[in-house]
Amino acid sequence: KRMVTVDVIGAGPRAVAGLLEHVGVKAEICPLEVVEKRLVDLKEYDVAFVSGMTVDLEAAAKALRLWRKSCGMSPIVAGGPMFYEYRKLIAFGYDIVVMGEAEPVIPSLIKCLKQNDITCLEKVKGIAYRGQQKTVSVTGLAPHATIKQLSIQHSAHVENYPLYWASRVYVEIVRGCSNFRRPSLKLADGRRCIHCPICFNPRTPLSARLRCPVGIPAGCGYCSVPATHGPARSRSREIIVREIRELVKRGVKRIVLSAPDVLDYQRDMLVYPEPLTDPCNPPANVDALERLLDDIFNIDEVSKGETYVMVENIKACLVDEEVAKLLGEYFRGTPVHLGVETGDPQHYRMLGRPGNLADVKRAVRLLSRYGMQVYVYFIYGLPGENLKTAKKTVELMEQLYRLGAEKVTAYRFTPLPGTAFENIEIKLTRASMMIKEKAQELNARAKKKLLGRKVFGIVAGFHKARRRLVVYPLPHGPVILTRGKKQLVGWLVEVRVTDIVSERMLEGTVVRKIKPIASHKAVEVALQVY
Ligand code: SF4
Repeated sequence: KRMVTVDVIGAGPRAVAGLLEHVGVKAEICPLEVVEKRLVDLKEYDVAFVSGMTVDLEAAAKALRLWRKSCGMSPIVAGGPMFYEYRKLIAFGYDIVVMGEAEPVIPSLIKCLKQNDITCLEKVKGIAYRGQQKTVSVTGLAPHATIKQLSIQHSAHVENYPLYWASRVYVEIVRGCSNFRRPSLKLADGRRCIHCPICFNPRTPLSARLRCPVGIPAGCGYCSVPATHGPARSRSREIIVREIRELVKRGVKRIVLSAPDVLDYQRDMLVYPEPLTDPCNPPANVDALERLLDDIFNIDEVSKGETYVMVENIKACLVDEEVAKLLGEYFRGTPVHLGVETGDPQHYRMLGRPGNLADVKRAVRLLSRYGMQVYVYFIYGLPGENLKTAKKTVELMEQLYRLGAEKVTAYRFTPLPGTAFENIEIKLTRASMMIKEKAQELNARAKKKLLGRKVFGIVAGFHKARRRLVVYPLPHGPVILTRGKKQLVGWLVEVRVTDIVSERMLEGTVVRKIKPIASHKAVEVALQVY
């Protein structure tokens, strides 16, 4: 992968490694780049677990080839969101695919692998595997992890990631999504919402929202989180704080509290034992969130500002004055992400989005007022998009920018497996281009505001094609390229932004060297890999 895109360490592989350790198996995590460079000896391992997104199938095939070359027919297991492509993974040569969340599956799977008996696999719920006659056997989808299983500690062994000292490390605080509304647009197979009272009647009991009579997957039509991970469940505060302490001790400088919605944190406890399937009611559990943030910001390095902690996604309908004030108190000057997707109120509702566009405007206004950098997200090419919806979207983008949004991003619609829109054909039209171009225009305007600004950053490596050092700004922002010697890699520096290189890159000049933050050995490995 390129230097500009490797600054993320996801929560998934650390969760699986933690689970393995929990059942007494020694586990290490390695990104594919490290395996490719032969910085680890695969022969030392008995089993490989490969985690990936649906776009990572090619990389998964590469990982499989490397494993087979070194370890012959030793078992290799695939998992993560790419599990929806289990037939392809097994056709590639994977032995087993974990079909959903790993927590309920790993303990019995490990028992089976230890017995080295293929017939044992049929009793492991939540896997697909290659049977004796090269057939694909499926034991069903994995059940969703319980709150107790979610609070098994994730591994903090991040040192095999060459850039762990500069990367954003995701620490999971909530699994699953509370949006159990559904899209009312016609699906690829002709199914359509019959407007029963389940999704939109606020009096529908929370557990009744789990099933749709016509089988439409829950959540926004383009998102697979509710179908894959179920309703939002929070991890325990003690475990989250312990995990962050461990990561900080190992030299991690940037931590993101990961959740489909950070404001769902412990909101599930307000409705327990019912599932949290309403995205907007009850309101955020501000007391629980404050206790968590208080504990995190009491960690020495975090309170001194040596390690940055950030949030990411939140739902607009849960943002009120109290929430914005709390977030501003802890995260002033750091980004917060709001998914908006369309600016047409009817289209918004038809996509299955939570809340409404008035919530979005209020959230942007309040969060900006309390010092947050608000990033808003749209999607072009969505089902139901037309010139009318695009025009309203462009208007809303401009409005949100004026209300204080610092970044407006438009992604191209991708029909993901497991979602309501999974087999819908992508059609990019003039309407789609209007949205895409508006986002580019607003971002160019926003980037101009950065010119001349001084920011702290970590020199993370060297961009070979551009012959420049790569600086990851703190706490987060577009990558900055700068002239300088390779000896500066691993240093904390202050940079002045001097130019805009592209949508994702800026140019800058180092104005101050502050201190080295990575060891010589860690820097050497990073330079070798990237
Ligand atoms: S999507 Fe399904 S559950 Fe929701 S209102 Fe329509 S028919 Fe009812």
